[in-house]
Amino acid sequence: MKCLRCGYCCIQLMVTIVKPEFIDEDLDFDNLSVIDKVIMKESGKWCPYLELNGEEYSCKVHNKPWYKDTPCFAHTQIENSIDDECRMGAGVTNRFKDHLKSLKRRN
Ligand code: SF4
Ligand code: SF4
Repeated sequence: MKCLRCGYCCIQLMVTIVKPEFIDEDLDFDNLSVIDKVIMKESGKWCPYLELNGEEYSCKVHNKPWYKDTPCFAHTQIENSIDDECRMGAGVTNRFKDHLKSLKRRN
C-alpha cells in the first residue's frame, strides 16, 4: 500500500514513537533496551515528528537509519497490492482538496 501522506494515521492513531532525545542515536529495535527510548503517542494527538508542507504531510524521522525498524514503517492496510494507494488516505485527501476549494470560493 502506498501511503499518500494524508496525516490521518499520525494524528488519529495511538503510535509507538522514539522519544525526541534519542532520535539521533543508532537505535536497535531487536534489543529490549529500546523500550526505554520509545513512548506511546496518544490517539487524536499530533505526532511531534509530523510536519505540514502546503497540502502534504511529512515525517521528520523518515530519514533516520532506524526508521525501517519502527511500527510506523511496518504500518499498512489491506489493499490488493503494495502499489495500490491507501483508500483511507485517498478519501481524506479528496475531502481536504474539496475543503480548500470551498475556502477559495468563499474568498
Ligand atoms: S513518527 Fe512519523 S510516521 Fe510515525 S506517527 Fe510520527 S510522523 Fe507519523
Ligand atoms: S490514512 Fe493512509 S494515506 Fe493517510 S497517513 Fe494513514 S496510511 Fe497514509
